[in-house]
Amino acid sequence: MALEEYRRKRDCGKTAEPPPGAIKARKGELSYLIQKHDATRLHYDFRLELDGVLLSWAVTKGPSLNPSDKRLAVRTEDHPLSYGTFEGTIPKGQYGGGTVMLWDEGTWEPKGDPKAGLKKGHLSFTLQGGRLKGDWDLIRMHGDEKKENWLLIKAKDAEARENGLASGFLDENAFSITTGRSMDAIASAEKAKPRKAPRSATNVAAAQEELSALEKRYPGVQQIGR
Ligand code: MN
Repeated sequence: MALEEYRRKRDCGKTAEPPPGAIKARKGELSYLIQKHDATRLHYDFRLELDGVLLSWAVTKGPSLNPSDKRLAVRTEDHPLSYGTFEGTIPKGQYGGGTVMLWDEGTWEPKGDPKAGLKKGHLSFTLQGGRLKGDWDLIRMHGDEKKENWLLIKAKDAEARENGLASGFLDENAFSITTGRSMDAIASAEKAKPRKAPRSATNVAAAQEELSALEKRYPGVQQIGR
């Protein structure tokens, strides 16, 4: 139910983004991540795991370590947890078409009940990411029902950078947190990908042979693979 909007906006036959799948809340630490997304307009997608989905906000200017910066964070549709490892290119013409970079990842810890905070319009939490750490707030502003505008604000703590010290932060961290690639490298890797070889009769025969060999070793493998 919670991922219906995610599903509706995407043509899973045309984008490499993960399909929605079943929602399952996980035990243990909650994941946090940011994806830098060069779509119609460059933005940073800020995501927090809760109840088996990734709550999502698009932060146009990106996060700031300066507590006096209030960064507009537009709430977007919940994403599947599997989206948290996606880095690549969404085809032009598809929803969100453009390059996606995994910019930060780690865990988050809500202060108090996060569901009550979401409802109230104020989430306070601690981030333990590769690039963002310490205490943060997300605060909802007045708006219409179609578009929820929030503000992402760094709390004053040892991880904050005051005044001019915060200014170069996004430029200093222009590379993927997982692969070290630049946006250009991610985009051109996609273009360089060889197209799948057409399935010739020999390919099909070879694949069937491989599958039946696997089935002998691992009964039931066919169902898993389909
Ligand atoms: Mn986005």
